Amino acid sequence: MANMETIVNLCKRRGFIFPSSEIYGGLRSTWDYGPLGVELKRNVKNAWWRWMVQLREDVVGLDAAILMAPKTWEASGHVETFTDPLVECLNCHQRFRADHLPGFHAPQSGHEEGADSETVDMARGAKCPNCGNKKFTDPRNFNLMFKTYMGPVEDATAAVWLRPETAQGIFVNFMSVQQTTRKKIPFGIAQVGKSFRNEITPGNFVYRTREFEQMEMEFFCEPGTDEKWHQYWIDERQAWYARYGMQADNMRLREHEQDELSHYSKRTVDIEYKFPFTDWGELEGIANRTDFDLTQHSKFSGQDLTYFDQEKNERYTPFVIEPAAGADRATLAFLIDAYHEEEAPAASGKTEKRTVLRLHKDLAPMKVAVLPLSRNEKLVPTAREVTTPLREHWMIDYDDAGSIGRRYRRQDEVGTPYCVTIDFESIDDHAVTVRDRDTMQQDRIPISDLVSYLGERL
Ligand code: ATP
Repeated sequence: MANMETIVNLCKRRGFIFPSSEIYGGLRSTWDYGPLGVELKRNVKNAWWRWMVQLREDVVGLDAAILMAPKTWEASGHVETFTDPLVECLNCHQRFRADHLPGFHAPQSGHEEGADSETVDMARGAKCPNCGNKKFTDPRNFNLMFKTYMGPVEDATAAVWLRPETAQGIFVNFMSVQQTTRKKIPFGIAQVGKSFRNEITPGNFVYRTREFEQMEMEFFCEPGTDEKWHQYWIDERQAWYARYGMQADNMRLREHEQDELSHYSKRTVDIEYKFPFTDWGELEGIANRTDFDLTQHSKFSGQDLTYFDQEKNERYTPFVIEPAAGADRATLAFLIDAYHEEEAPAASGKTEKRTVLRLHKDLAPMKVAVLPLSRNEKLVPTAREVTTPLREHWMIDYDDAGSIGRRYRRQDEVGTPYCVTIDFESIDDHAVTVRDRDTMQQDRIPISDLVSYLGERL
């Protein structure tokens, strides 16, 4: 498996992901998706939407606002409990998430903040990753929500939060969606969008950032059927990653321990990926949120959010199963998973190192590269004739610079499934050479058949 440095370098060099506002020295842990990255991430989100919404009868979509009525976050429990334990190294004053410090022991209750002798005792076992010191402040709960102000006056009545999860936009719209679509339970509402968390220790490239994109679906079901649906969605979500080529050996399920369950959860199972910077890291969490959220919103808003089951002639608050994935983490995992270095035959007759991103074709940023053999003007009309109809169907890269071998390598490195080469014979025989990224096999195809040839394969 590739190390992170290789992946980060590839991303920067080839225009997948850049440090944000880099000309000003960057902003720690924020990243911008470049021309290839925006395509890859959009393809990941589209693949999710296709699987979760388009191919199903029982899930509909939603795009709710990032800013929501502040009461939303009181009802959801985020104001009170969406916190991480923050500790500060007493030597270098760097701050860390206590539960991410290897060896950290949770403090016993009754310890007062700032009680130095006890502080040292409590933190024994954990070492500052920055300076090696073993003394920390007491952990204190740090709320991860970004606060801002709506309108011109910055006072408490104008305070709003940037959403830390997309889920609440779904819960507050549950009734409107159910009534307008006339969906019967069980059904789901899916949403893809930005979320914000003021993470104490962001890092590992786009794995943990303060601004990120989530792909979440809330599946509303009858109480008592929730455990069955939970298992169903755990299986479905694993199948999705496999469908898009993620290697089974690099994925696993992890059951949350009772003491790590979120305040709303009855059971949570994570799908984890073998990221190179950690043993295993969460890709997606699949939680049984019970009737917690709808009950809370009903209480705080005064609105009836129960569902009337006509067949059973009874009213209940639905239970909710939530598969919650990160678009950035999934994109990163697909990139890492697809990265391969191998020996390939070179033009000289020897072998050379080939870097190839074996991305699933649906995820590949560019589907086809059109490569005129040289910049000779005679090739231009044929190259244009080939390119224009292809653009109607797929993202196309047109590259006429450098040796053909080098151009193949450049396309392999960014995962382009097919290269179409136009040579001098193409002018007369109206045929081109199509090269397959994975097999490196080359076929001679009449230009008139090119769209259908590629269409069958893409
Ligand atoms: P972690 O334990 O890694 O902080 P979490 O359990 O808090 O994650 P969830 O609240 O379950 O995460 O969010 C669902 C998904 O959203 C995660 O599985 C992840 O893919 C993504 N996600 C959450 N926080 C971040 C972040 N700071 N940066 C990038 N993606 C994130």
